[in-house]
Amino acid sequence: MTSTTTFRSPDQLAAAAGLASLKPSPRLPVLFVGHGSPMNAIEDNEYRESWQSLGQSLLQRHGKPQLILCVSAHWLTRSEWALTGMAEPRTIHDFGGFPQELFAQQYPAPGAPAVARELASRLDAPSIDQPVLVDDAEWGLDHGTWSVLKPMFPAADIPVMQLSLVYGRAAQEHFALGQQLRALREQGVLIVASGNVVHNLRAMQPSAAPNQAYDWAIEFDRHVAERIQAGDLQALTRFQDLGRVTQMAHPTFEHYLPLLHAAGAVHEGEAPRFFNSDFQMAAISMRSAIWGEA
Ligand code: ZN
Repeated sequence: MTSTTTFRSPDQLAAAAGLASLKPSPRLPVLFVGHGSPMNAIEDNEYRESWQSLGQSLLQRHGKPQLILCVSAHWLTRSEWALTGMAEPRTIHDFGGFPQELFAQQYPAPGAPAVARELASRLDAPSIDQPVLVDDAEWGLDHGTWSVLKPMFPAADIPVMQLSLVYGRAAQEHFALGQQLRALREQGVLIVASGNVVHNLRAMQPSAAPNQAYDWAIEFDRHVAERIQAGDLQALTRFQDLGRVTQMAHPTFEHYLPLLHAAGAVHEGEAPRFFNSDFQMAAISMRSAIWGEA
């Protein structure tokens, strides 16, 4: 990962953040969702059930968001941040070796081209170049997004926009981009970051129970949970300090980085609530967190 440069302060960004295409709103929560296997989108299991009940409770407590902005582990771009800018983003089945039923899934939520254009012009801190808008030829809604949003908001009537992960950027830059998104929570935007706190596909043990995991998986997951519980979210950017434990928990970082976007969008003092705090196949932490729920 590369070094960082200076960013605008969150206050400056908040002042600039009033997007004409969105109405001011009471502050919405911010979510980090562990998505795990794509099959969680259609299997009757505890994860899918938790997403279903969370969606219902969010609608009851906060009303319908004007927009869902999703950062998924499955959309990596090389040098530029990108936003989906289409009116009707297609559903992408970006996986292989799963049953036909999974490939048949569609999530026909509308996009938000006007918001995407405005947001692209606002996210302009020095080392975060303005995001580019992409069309159907390049992206749509990947399974990191729709596998959790479809159970959560099955009506698919809330516009959804994805923001890419620029994989090679420093952890601090991902966090700083999350800070830039924070003010959107008061403009009817539900920020959903979708990844996994621990993610090592090669080490998966298909027969493992949800309470079984490797020592390194438990250690990394506990470290992250403790930092979140303590409100020390900035410390999440130093995840590589755990050395070998980090290497085992994240041979590559794409499933961890969305957590930094969510953490950056949290206000100081906002209490987290964890859910799905267990493991899939011993090597994937399903731990998820919501801030600002009450
Ligand atoms: Zn994934």
